[in-house]
Amino acid sequence: MHTEEIISQLDQLSKISSRLDISADERKEMISELSGFTEKYISELNTQNIFSERKPGPLAIMDHPIPLSELLALYRKEVTGTGINAASGKHLGYIPAGGIFTSAVADFIAAITNPYAGVYYASPGAAAIENEVLQWLKSVFNFPGDSVGNLTSGGSVSALIAFTAARDKHGIKNEKIKSSVVYLTEQVHHSAQKALRIIGLEDIVLRYVPLDDHHRMKTVELKRMIVEDIASGLNPFLVIGTAGTTDTGAVDDLDAIADIAEKYKLWYHVDAAYGGFFILTSKKNLFKGIERADSVIMDPHKSMFVPYGLAAVLIKDKDSALKSNYYTAHYMQDAAGEELIKSPANLSPELTRHFRGLRLWLPLQIHGQEPFIACLEEKLLLVKYFRTKLSELGFHLGPEPDLSVSYFWYPFGKDEDEKNRQLMKEIHSDGDVYLSSSIVNDRFVIRMAILSFRTKKETIDRAVEMIERCLARVK
Ligand SMILES: *Cc1c(COP(=O)(O)O)cnc(C)c1O
Repeated sequence: MHTEEIISQLDQLSKISSRLDISADERKEMISELSGFTEKYISELNTQNIFSERKPGPLAIMDHPIPLSELLALYRKEVTGTGINAASGKHLGYIPAGGIFTSAVADFIAAITNPYAGVYYASPGAAAIENEVLQWLKSVFNFPGDSVGNLTSGGSVSALIAFTAARDKHGIKNEKIKSSVVYLTEQVHHSAQKALRIIGLEDIVLRYVPLDDHHRMKTVELKRMIVEDIASGLNPFLVIGTAGTTDTGAVDDLDAIADIAEKYKLWYHVDAAYGGFFILTSKKNLFKGIERADSVIMDPHKSMFVPYGLAAVLIKDKDSALKSNYYTAHYMQDAAGEELIKSPANLSPELTRHFRGLRLWLPLQIHGQEPFIACLEEKLLLVKYFRTKLSELGFHLGPEPDLSVSYFWYPFGKDEDEKNRQLMKEIHSDGDVYLSSSIVNDRFVIRMAILSFRTKKETIDRAVEMIERCLARVK
């Protein structure tokens, strides 16, 4: 190809490829449309139904250009108009959080500037922000300053990183897998078993420690099981405590588990994915002992209300975390000289990644901690309020909750489970406030999980009205 030909082809290609780099005017127009969309969406959150069983219509990618305005209309109809609207304060199912606006602003900034946050050398500023968020988390959970951590996409990936470090520290491989034991409870989130399977520990022995009346691990039983396992030649390896179980919101006796883990030299992991940030509230005492864990995970996309996609893991043993994740290659050689733990990539299976630290750093700088703490205290009181109202309607309630998740059922007498299931169906087809269900002690129960920053007293009043309506249809 002659140079002239190259130049002429470049000219033609540039005309087309430049469409990706839109003009200042087009950018302004998009931002203005986006702003209109945002305002309308947020202002209607309380009046829109929270749940729709409708299936989405066609969303296939077309081969002709479509303007943003049309796509926003499509998005509204098919995405925000189907399933559960998780941005709404009326979401009281599973574990809601909402998604604060300042975090969305952070995502926008991160995407526009696109810093390479995985490697300190490439973006020392972005990596420093990631590390400052981790420093803040260490201070919140009373972890030592020289522990390490990583910001991940979710609690499941955090658990994966923690368990891999535990596995490598304790050398759990080959024949040792089948004789090693993990202690957990039926209330441990299923992402734990999933992570163990993914990291090659499917054949490890799982010991389910019995629960007390408040759905907390019976630590006396834990100790007994460990002693028995040692006596029969097994290798107690890992114990998983939970600070806020997903189903019932229970916090295990973290300090008592720490004593046992220490005595028998187990890796102690605490899952604080849902409940973690309640440590900042009047419930602080429940978290005593969390600082003694070898690893702890927490989800800012739950109890810090940021949009989905931000969780964290803290690990005390720096070397084990590095051993699992640190890797180098020739094309990385310019970065290799930097201090290893300053680069998030060395403590995670990810290399290139979203600059997710900004999603918490920016909101904390803008708001300070106070409104986050007030919001968590508010949720704790709203659960009490909701439970009182339900009890007045004749519902039976689960035990006094440790945090902001609880459950209830109606004593229909005959066909109790079946009728509570029916009540759940009525609630879902009503669609004003969303609740989900579970099975606790073999009983079908309806759960309330109060965690969205948009959930207010008025939301609970509406939920109570809705439940009354639905109950009348089932009775
Ligand atoms: C939500 C949750 C998880 C899983 O976290 P993801 O962010 O959904 O991956 C793990 N443990 C507990 C206790 C949870 O509530």
